[in-house]
Amino acid sequence: MKRIFTALTVLVFAASFIANAQQKKAPQSDLDKKVDALIAKMTLEEKVGQMTQVTLDEVSKSSYSKHEIDPEKLKDAIQKYHVGSILNVMGAAYTREHWHEIISTIQDEAAKSRLKIPVIYGIDAIHGENYTQGSTLFPQEIAMAATFDRAIAHRAGEIAAYEVRASYIPWNFSPVLDLGKSPLWPRIYETFGEDPYLCKTMGASIIRGYQGNDVGDKYHVAACMKHYLGYSYPLSGKDRTPAWIPDRYMREYFLPSFTEAVKAGAKTVMINSGEINGVPIHASHYMLTDVLRGELHFDGVAVTDWRDIQYLHDRHHIAATQKDAVMIAVNAGVDMSMVPYDYTFYTYLIELAKEGKVPMWRINEAVHRILKLKYETGLFERPVGKPDDYPKFGSEEFSKVSLQAAQEAITLLKNNNNVLPLKKNTKVLVTGPTANTMRSLDGGWSYNWQGETADNFAKDKNTILEAIQQKIGKDNVTYQAGASFDKLEDIDNTVSAAKQADAIVLCLGELSYTENVGNIDDLNLPWAQIHLAEELAKTGKPIILVLAEGRPRIVTDAESLSAATIMMYLSGNEGGNALADILFGDANPSGRLSITYPRYTNALVNYYRKNLENGNPDDKHGYNPLYEFGTGLSYTTFTYSNLHLSKPDLKDGETMTVTIDVKNSGQMEGKESVLLYTSQLYASISPDFKRLRAYDKIELKPGETKTVTFKLTSKDIAFVNDVNKIVAEPGEFKLMIGDQSVNFKYVSNTVPSRTGRL
Ligand code: BGC
Repeated sequence: MKRIFTALTVLVFAASFIANAQQKKAPQSDLDKKVDALIAKMTLEEKVGQMTQVTLDEVSKSSYSKHEIDPEKLKDAIQKYHVGSILNVMGAAYTREHWHEIISTIQDEAAKSRLKIPVIYGIDAIHGENYTQGSTLFPQEIAMAATFDRAIAHRAGEIAAYEVRASYIPWNFSPVLDLGKSPLWPRIYETFGEDPYLCKTMGASIIRGYQGNDVGDKYHVAACMKHYLGYSYPLSGKDRTPAWIPDRYMREYFLPSFTEAVKAGAKTVMINSGEINGVPIHASHYMLTDVLRGELHFDGVAVTDWRDIQYLHDRHHIAATQKDAVMIAVNAGVDMSMVPYDYTFYTYLIELAKEGKVPMWRINEAVHRILKLKYETGLFERPVGKPDDYPKFGSEEFSKVSLQAAQEAITLLKNNNNVLPLKKNTKVLVTGPTANTMRSLDGGWSYNWQGETADNFAKDKNTILEAIQQKIGKDNVTYQAGASFDKLEDIDNTVSAAKQADAIVLCLGELSYTENVGNIDDLNLPWAQIHLAEELAKTGKPIILVLAEGRPRIVTDAESLSAATIMMYLSGNEGGNALADILFGDANPSGRLSITYPRYTNALVNYYRKNLENGNPDDKHGYNPLYEFGTGLSYTTFTYSNLHLSKPDLKDGETMTVTIDVKNSGQMEGKESVLLYTSQLYASISPDFKRLRAYDKIELKPGETKTVTFKLTSKDIAFVNDVNKIVAEPGEFKLMIGDQSVNFKYVSNTVPSRTGRL
């Protein structure tokens, strides 16, 4: 059986290789020629070594208490196995000095190798350089998306890149471009939320921030688009479990963020660990070669995710042996294997190349991409950066940007009778399990993988409690935990304290987690937290409900008791300060939900749902969230008027200009995210109820009006049709901004109308 499978696989791949080899090659740049000249000098072993990535543990002494490189293991990795790349942190965040020592030791060893090819180090700096002590930690992506502010995402990308380079690392495994469709998925906080347009625009902005104009300069790093493709929507909601996603949906919802990232120049991609429709993406020639290379024209490095070639055998059972797994993955289009713990990939790939089961052109192609990345990131000239080049690392200037991002992300969902902002002489009870821990502000990927060391590493940063104490003075603040994440704690004293206070800041939510560790069987917030809210509500004191959490856990019963509700997401090291600024009126909230907040566990529908029969608003089976995607209040009011289209019809090849006036009609200066949605009334594929097509963020003084301008072309209203083509279909559209709407027609001479195809 095994032999039949192998023979078949070879045949199938042989056919597509011929097709690939026959594809016209783009003209070679000087850099391509330089890379090829180096490849010409390399042995098979040296080439395969470049495709091998191991984790830092593999070249380190095994004690976790103090990290140390093991010189013998490092020598083996580089001289014997010719390893091209190393990743990760062993234990928890290091000082810059220790990173300098690690990277210098690695590059010194590489300099002793025959061809002196530097090693490329990669790290998951997913919300700032989260593996270096004293760095600037930003809100996680789900919160960054809630700012609806591309400029701040770009700036956060620049700062993260600066601090990653300050840690002597040129490659960042970020951003996550997966669509945050399912609130069950434990990595949803790593995404830019549920909307494809928001994901693609925020993703491209942060990539431009990471890479700058020259990814090789000392302040920029190579980005990594992850996890290609369809990782975020497993059927069970649990990490790395099977997904069923038809190709049309894949292209309509999941692919655009990657397409845009390729256009933004992203240098690398990491592959989805999961399987879609039964096909693990690491084995999918269609996804890794036909779509990624053939359609998206991506020419950077494709790296596997953690151990994922081995999982083709161990987990997915599509490869009968580990060696077959290597053959299938490399032939499908993998360039580098994050092995990460052994050298079996290296050994098997050499054998496969000698046996002709992986063609040499495929290995040369992969090595070409890897070496080109090393040249582009400046590693050949500057394998280790200079310590003194980064005076702004962890600076006040950078943390102010993180504070601004958190202020713009935090989303005010309810504010009954303008209970917020509170006066600074209010007597406040601060309570709840997320009130006094940095873990609930930073989340996973903070100082270590699961983020459980955040209270130690970020002890100079303010938790929610500390920030409120600082803002209004300790005398005005009482603290009671009230509950841990799943148990009541000292409830009687908490209720007594509530009776003495003017207002209760009740902080509920989650502890840090990521990947499979964050899998849940129940989206409800644990009972103890809801019960705490119910007991506190009996005091009649106003409850300000603050949700610090990586995904929208169901809080419907507790939320019905609050006077005000604030979604904080995971807003990073400045999250506590940003919240205190908002609670007491030193900042005006301007975040909007980047994800639908569900009301019930069995009603997890995204905002781009389908139409209801005759638009029946009473049909609660459609979309019945606690708060819609895009919801977000301010302490001022904004009035929209004069929605105007430059023409009544949009024609092929034309651009339509949309303008709208937005006035700050309240008393406080504030920022407003202006969101433009369209819906097509009738189309050949049942159209989504509405889709976000553009947005802008503006700042207005009281009484000030600004005209916001958007440009629309047929591309902005296109969709993927039943034969997987992106088309704009002629017909009538509704365009909506704020409470204004207008209809227009799209007219095309080239695309036939929607019905009657034979
Ligand atoms: C995660 C990736 C990450 C990699 C390296 C994997 O488990 O899925 O997102 O980049 O580990 O740390």
